[in-house]
Amino acid sequence: MHSDQTQPSPFQNRPEKTEHVNLLIVGGGLAGSLLAWNAEMRGLSFRIVDPVPSMNASLAAAGVLNPVTGKRLVKSWNVDALLPAARATYRRIEQICGGKYYFDREILRIIQTSEERRQWEKRMSQPDYASFLGELLPPGSAGYGWVDPLGSFRIKGVGNLLIPPMLETLRVRYKSNGSWIVDLVRHEEIRILPDTIQWRNLAADYLIFCEGHAGKQNPWFGHLPFNPAKGEVIEVEGISIPANPIVHKQKWVLSLAENRVITGSTWGWNPDNEETTSQGRTAVYRGLCEMMPKAEGLPIVAHRAAIRPCTKDRQPFLGLHPKHRRLGLFNGFGSKGVLLIPLLTNHFLDHLLGGIPLIPEVDINRAWVPENSDGLPILP
Ligand SMILES: Cc1cc2nc3c(=O)[nH]c(=O)nc-3n(C[C@H](O)[C@H](O)[C@H](O)COP(=O)(O)OP(=O)(O)OC[C@H]3O[C@@H](n4cnc5c(N)ncnc54)[C@H](O)[C@@H]3O)c2cc1C
Repeated sequence: MHSDQTQPSPFQNRPEKTEHVNLLIVGGGLAGSLLAWNAEMRGLSFRIVDPVPSMNASLAAAGVLNPVTGKRLVKSWNVDALLPAARATYRRIEQICGGKYYFDREILRIIQTSEERRQWEKRMSQPDYASFLGELLPPGSAGYGWVDPLGSFRIKGVGNLLIPPMLETLRVRYKSNGSWIVDLVRHEEIRILPDTIQWRNLAADYLIFCEGHAGKQNPWFGHLPFNPAKGEVIEVEGISIPANPIVHKQKWVLSLAENRVITGSTWGWNPDNEETTSQGRTAVYRGLCEMMPKAEGLPIVAHRAAIRPCTKDRQPFLGLHPKHRRLGLFNGFGSKGVLLIPLLTNHFLDHLLGGIPLIPEVDINRAWVPENSDGLPILP
């Protein structure tokens, strides 16, 4: 048996030399990867650390950027600024890295209730909805076997991002130049020093947590009102619909390839795991069959589940820890990461590097609770 002194340290064989970077990014989903991209575009040095799981929210997502959502057909928060920034970011990644990931789309929204139709009429009379909503289409015009007894309308200005291949492209880019570390950051390994943050042999000006739903367990930020929600999606074979439009009624349906669609999703609050469930699978399948009865009996060829990093007020969490000003949080993108993250990476780095104040709606200060003398929150 070893005494304490003879036990090998887990870091014993690591090089002693400390490397310095501007940013250490914890988490390589869409949030961390796009933060890394923006840092690269600004000429900052960075490392991004993620064990590269087979599933996370970004890999399960349909990748839809939807400007008008919900039963009340409400414009997404700040969409007039978010949408062009998202398009520009994804197109720039395509230009520089190669590949095609972003597509302009429309949504065919099949009307479910007479109340929804009234909402459409109301929004059509509001000038700021004019560029997003199309004319009412009569029942029967949706085609392809969709059930549309109350008609439908188009939502314009929609986008679709193929997230997994784009993230893979960024990961290969950053692995090949040594910027991506395939590992998990254990919080107890993080040292807060007066001028830097130290993690193993890396010293960083700032360490930014982009941990998705795992942010709820973060010792510095986990007390913020996160509200994680599990979502499940399925892929069904035997349906051929065009890539444009994406169809939405009680579920959304996207063409993945000739003869295959992806459809979802479910909302399960306070999840305790990321496993797929038979209830989730059935709920999504039933939703599809109600929208398109001829889907009944077609095979489900894939089924995925992941946890959305939602927050109680449905707005993201951006900011630096009030006491440890070199620890930051970039998280809470809920069900709209594809739309929100590109503009907010820019905004966050402007805040970090240029002292630009954060927009109050995304600033963690809106939800911060007082701390004790160790810098840890006093939980209610
Ligand atoms: C079913 C479903 C459908 C969705 N559809 C859409 C959609 O159509 N449009 C849209 O905009 N959004 C959609 N979303 C939401 C979208 O997926 C999220 O907003 C977004 O992907 C969040 O990205 P993230 O990087 O914050 O989190 P994640 O993608 O979950 O990534 C977090 C990463 O952090 C890593 N990590 C955590 N802790 C550590 C640590 N200690 N050390 C190292 N790494 C760590 C994890 O390994 C993970 O890779 C959907 C989500 C789900 C579940």
